Amino acid sequence: MGNNEGIRKILTVCPYCGCGCGLYLHVENGKITGVSPSRSHPVNKGSLCVKGWNAYEFIAHPDRLKYPMIKQNGAFKRASWDDTLNFVATRLDEIKKKYGPDSIGILSSAKCTNEENYLMMKFARAVIGTNNIDHCARLCHSSTVGGLAAAFGSGAMTNSIDEISHAKVLFVIGSNTTEQHPMIAMHMLEAVDRGATLIVADPRRTKIAEFAHIHLRQKSGTDVALLMGIMNVIVNEGLVDIDFVRRRTENFDAFENVLRRYPPSVVEGITGVREYDIRRVARIYAMEKRSMLFYAMGITQHITGTDNVRACANLVMLTGHIGLPMSGLNPLRGQNNVQGACDMGALPNVYSGYQTVTDPRVRKKFQMAWKRKLPQNPGLTLMEMMEKAYVGSLKAMYIMGENPLISDPDLNLLRKALERLDFLVVQDIFPNETSEHADAILPASSYAEKDGTFTNTERRVQLIRKAIEPIGESKPDWEIICELSNKMGYKMNYRGTYEIMEEIALLTPSYGGILHHRLSDGFGLQWPCNDIKHTGTQYLHRKKFARGLGTFITVDFMPPDEPPDSEYPFLLTTGRIYFRYHTATMCKRTAVLEREEPESFIEINPDDAERLGIRNRSMVKVSSRRGEIEIKACVTNKTPEGIVFIPFHFRESAANILTNPATDPSAKIPEYKVCAVKVEPLHRPQKIRRIPSVDLEALRIT
Ligand code: SF4
Repeated sequence: MGNNEGIRKILTVCPYCGCGCGLYLHVENGKITGVSPSRSHPVNKGSLCVKGWNAYEFIAHPDRLKYPMIKQNGAFKRASWDDTLNFVATRLDEIKKKYGPDSIGILSSAKCTNEENYLMMKFARAVIGTNNIDHCARLCHSSTVGGLAAAFGSGAMTNSIDEISHAKVLFVIGSNTTEQHPMIAMHMLEAVDRGATLIVADPRRTKIAEFAHIHLRQKSGTDVALLMGIMNVIVNEGLVDIDFVRRRTENFDAFENVLRRYPPSVVEGITGVREYDIRRVARIYAMEKRSMLFYAMGITQHITGTDNVRACANLVMLTGHIGLPMSGLNPLRGQNNVQGACDMGALPNVYSGYQTVTDPRVRKKFQMAWKRKLPQNPGLTLMEMMEKAYVGSLKAMYIMGENPLISDPDLNLLRKALERLDFLVVQDIFPNETSEHADAILPASSYAEKDGTFTNTERRVQLIRKAIEPIGESKPDWEIICELSNKMGYKMNYRGTYEIMEEIALLTPSYGGILHHRLSDGFGLQWPCNDIKHTGTQYLHRKKFARGLGTFITVDFMPPDEPPDSEYPFLLTTGRIYFRYHTATMCKRTAVLEREEPESFIEINPDDAERLGIRNRSMVKVSSRRGEIEIKACVTNKTPEGIVFIPFHFRESAANILTNPATDPSAKIPEYKVCAVKVEPLHRPQKIRRIPSVDLEALRIT
């Protein structure tokens, strides 16, 4: 905390992305008036992106939910906390008694603290008696959690962000890093300035791809084939780290047998990436020890998301590029605390620290601590909850800090699913598309009005600090969960979030040494941090993998679920943009962010646009087998011919009306990155006179 002419500066953590930048909230007369970056923070080092600099304006926005509400005759009416919580407790109890605990589903939140996610999963399991708890990690990195846990025993970024600038090779696949993780991109570009080689694999020409020495534009949904092709070259050219493979891994022979089917000539046919480039990337990546591999949702959001992640894991094991500083596999987690929400067990199959609910010894430990018999079968994933709600077997949902009616695929179907619930309670800081369907709304406090911890993408657990009192009658999410639990007859009494963290540490080996008083100096601790003397872990799998030996898991290329065809000839891919965040509840209430990107758009290649008579900035209709939207065209070379891109943040022109709910069979993550659509001009097609464009790729010096 610092002071400057009446301004109090409270050190806390940015509430937007998983970089977890340190920032100061400026408080004057009980109001937050600005933000400044922490200069010594290891991630942002005195910088912030545009979202971080503006991470204060939404806090006191007039739209904030300021008091509890109950829906009566189709309209929300203000109610007291006591009445609202009694109403929610009674309805949940009634439904539990009538249909059983598994008729209730709970969504926790990657925007809430670790302590709140821990309590929410405890509430689901000990109070309701169900493992039906999930959160939006299902939609972004569930394939990472499962894929890396199977290969290494731990599903998280292996290295630290401040190692990146000292790496020699950065291989970024399926990550629009400059827009989604701006401070990580800053470290990458620092490495490039120091002479590192940057390789980007992405069908779109993103900003980070513009900085790349080599840009591979694989066809969407062909990542397994691309990675297998690269590994095929590594094996055939003798670039394998044989000593590492022998000492540290298993199942190599079975994997190698499958690998033979992916010579670069075959892979070129599947991916569209030239054989020459596949060979070049394989050599550059394998021959430099300080090679770091990064990926994000371009890898995970496919029906083959788990296989894509496994292929990445195989690549780093094959080359021995793991277990060292500046050498590892780094999934870039999206939201500020999505890593923490997973760590805390806001998932249907694990308690905190990824301890499985099916393990009797683990269950016994939690039963003894919580003094309740706990359910033993894994619960429903987010997508399965929606399917059950649609068919009428899930009767109630409690949704904290999530907005599925923008973030989930096939929104028309999802809306019907939510309408069919007997009871829906939403807990949030702003009204949103989902809360319109709620029976009760519980107003929560923002990150600036509460204490707790967030865990960023590099496993760094950091304190967030209360800067102002809660707005209106809102309360921190953890307090609401405790009060509701008490009303339902299960005592949850904590004197503060530090006591919740003490319970987490007691029950969660990887958080065993993480206590609030240890986080107050410096910038947190990186798990695993097993005991009170442990100083945290900079990089993972140093001498052995978390599961002992790393496992090569055989994967094979499978095409996407819904490729383009004659009726729907374009491949739609969705994603995020720099000035928006997730379902935009916070950033659309921030003037600068709203000014810069006020409306949605569809990126379409100039050749496709010319053929269809679509002008830049004209309106088009985009339809898929699930619905249609009207949207403004952005004619650009960023997107290759045959592919269109729409950001998913916008309520108007919601991309997820179009997306395909087909999921990866094990992670149950939807295939947001590929579905088939049709694009039509909304007005009479116009003859477009093209100005010849410059082929920037041909001019690139590599
Ligand atoms: S990079 Fe992420 S954490 Fe850092 S300021 Fe920007 S949005 Fe916040």
